[in-house]
Amino acid sequence: MASRVCLVHYHEIGLKGKNRARFEHILMDNLKAALAAFSVSTIVRISGHILVTFSAPGEAERAFDTIARTPGVARVSLAFHTNRDPHEYCEAAVRALREAGDFYSFKVAARRSNTDYELTSIDLNRQVGEVLCEAFPDKKVLMHDPDVQVHVLVVQGSVYVYARSERGVGGLPQGSAGKVMTLLSSGIDSPVATWMLARRGAVPVPVHFSGRPQTADTSEFLVQDIISALAPSVQIGRLYVVPFGDCQREISLACPSDLRVIMYRRVMYAVTERLAAIEGAKAIVTGESLGQVASQTLENIMAVNEVVSLPVFRPLIGSDKQEIIARAKDIGTYDISTQDAPDCCTLFMPRRPETHAKLDAVHAAWDMFDHEAMIQHLVDTVEHIDYPAPCYHAPRSRK
Ligand code: ATP
Ligand code: MG
Repeated sequence: MASRVCLVHYHEIGLKGKNRARFEHILMDNLKAALAAFSVSTIVRISGHILVTFSAPGEAERAFDTIARTPGVARVSLAFHTNRDPHEYCEAAVRALREAGDFYSFKVAARRSNTDYELTSIDLNRQVGEVLCEAFPDKKVLMHDPDVQVHVLVVQGSVYVYARSERGVGGLPQGSAGKVMTLLSSGIDSPVATWMLARRGAVPVPVHFSGRPQTADTSEFLVQDIISALAPSVQIGRLYVVPFGDCQREISLACPSDLRVIMYRRVMYAVTERLAAIEGAKAIVTGESLGQVASQTLENIMAVNEVVSLPVFRPLIGSDKQEIIARAKDIGTYDISTQDAPDCCTLFMPRRPETHAKLDAVHAAWDMFDHEAMIQHLVDTVEHIDYPAPCYHAPRSRK
């Protein structure tokens, strides 16, 4: 009897030459963590793929989407695993093609990973093709651009047969690129920016600035919901929460109102850089998009950026809002981000914020309050929430 398995394909990491084994191990660790809620029995390498097997029926079908969303997965296929008995794998091919739903044309694409099987891939194509033609007499075999391909992969003592195969999110396995601090609001943009860095192999460590105690803590719960929505495919180990309301009040009393937002942001960046040193993170990520709101002009970005020396990544800088919204819907954070919550951004907002800040004025405002004491106080009183992920491949922190 054929069992159901998932075959994971990973083109990009396949290209990484000497690093290949390391990347494969990280991806396998991450799949193990992402699939913790499923009854996985093994995750092993076979012939250029990662094979995930399950110990209960229906689990491969259920786990399919989670695997497809895991960074580093270029493609995932829902396969039947059989032995080398032609009756078994031909029967599996019929079942695989039946799952393909509405289609007109198909072809068989067979491959042997070693030559100890007496049939060549051409023989296999013919053998399985004949059985499928008999089972689906009204369908047509088409060599070029068929609606469905039935793949038959012969590996050592086993045969894997699949027709259902979908693109994964691609990118690189999380943990292959080190840690980044991500400034995570409960808005639409920063969850998308966070996801993008995770997809490139980084482990995001989010920092959320809350308006507490001057506002309620709603935004903190939304940020936690966002982290849950990104999981289990994208995993986050720790969320830092900075109660920022009282400091914002202090800034709003001390500085010219049009420069308040820039002062808030400078403090946020500086605190995040210090947390980066604790975490061993090598960059800061934000969800800024050029010109999207008044604070995101080149002048204002420069006026904020100068307080830190770590690189600041803004993966959405050239994206339109509609593109960002489409991605937010796709990764499951949009509905959370559109809920209303007061956070530090809505607190003590000036009527007319400066849109083209002059550095002299910014430096003067910066010296109107004890910014160093404020930054250190916020670092000393930062709160955090840990998300246990026992098997997850996370770089070591220095704490
Ligand atoms: P977002 O949709 O991510 O909230 P936005 O369009 O509201 O972005 P801004 O409010 O100008 O834009 O924020 C720009 C960036 O600053 C955000 O993308 C995020 O990275 C960071 N940021 C803003 N508010 C907070 C916050 N309360 N906590 C942490 N980071 C924040
Ligand atoms: Mg926002």
